[in-house]
Amino acid sequence: MLKIRGHHLLCLQGFQGYGYNKEFTENMTLIHKKIINDEEYVKITSNIDDICKKCPNNNCEICINKDENTKILKMDKIVLEKILKESKKDYYKASELFDLINNKLFTSKKDIENICGGCKWYDVCLWAKQKE
Ligand code: SF4
Ligand code: SF4
Repeated sequence: MLKIRGHHLLCLQGFQGYGYNKEFTENMTLIHKKIINDEEYVKITSNIDDICKKCPNNNCEICINKDENTKILKMDKIVLEKILKESKKDYYKASELFDLINNKLFTSKKDIENICGGCKWYDVCLWAKQKE
């Protein structure tokens, strides 16, 4: 089972190989493959997850990305609240989460801008660009 924090459910869908360093990108690539192919169930979280585990900003299970930390926590909260309002489970199929996110929770360009506006990866993120 994969442990994935709320906003990473969006980032994973927009991933095209960019990241903080080689180790991060390799790990993200592996998780991306598993999740996009629906190979593992997903437990959602608002803390350090399987992607953060290989991130240089993860210091003893705390994200120290100072520029973005407040924004990251806010994004996690928005995504998790929306998901849990629709479907509360201990774990989900990835495809079920993506369907919910893309077809019910974030359906317009405005929805996407509201959550992703200001993200440093916005210009290279396929998920953020999907409604353009
Ligand atoms: S724009 Fe940033 S926060 Fe939004 S999905 Fe893409 S990488 Fe994640
Ligand atoms: S920047 Fe923070 S939230 Fe993002 S992957 Fe790294 S540790 Fe996780």
